[in-house]
Amino acid sequence: MFLLFGTRAGETVLTMVVFVCSNCGVSAAQRVFKRVTRVTLFFVPLFPVSTSHWNECSNCGLTTQLTKPQVDNALAWSPS
Ligand SMILES: [Zn+2]
Repeated sequence: MFLLFGTRAGETVLTMVVFVCSNCGVSAAQRVFKRVTRVTLFFVPLFPVSTSHWNECSNCGLTTQLTKPQVDNALAWSPS
C-alpha cells in the first residue's frame, strides 16, 4: 500500500480597488488575490497549510504582498 501526498495552490480574486500605483504612478485598478495552499492525499485537497495575499496593478503588473489587515481594509473599501 502506498500513500500519495502533495500540495495544491488555488488562487482567487477577492476584490478590485483603485489607487495610485507606487511603481507606474497611474490611478489604476488593483486586483487583490488570495492564494491558499492545501495538502492533498491522492489529489484530493484536505486542509490548508498556508495563505497569502497580494495585489497586482492592472497597468504595469507590479505585485505587492499584503497583510491580512490590508486585505480587510481593501474589502471594506471595495464598491461591491
Ligand atoms: Zn502600476
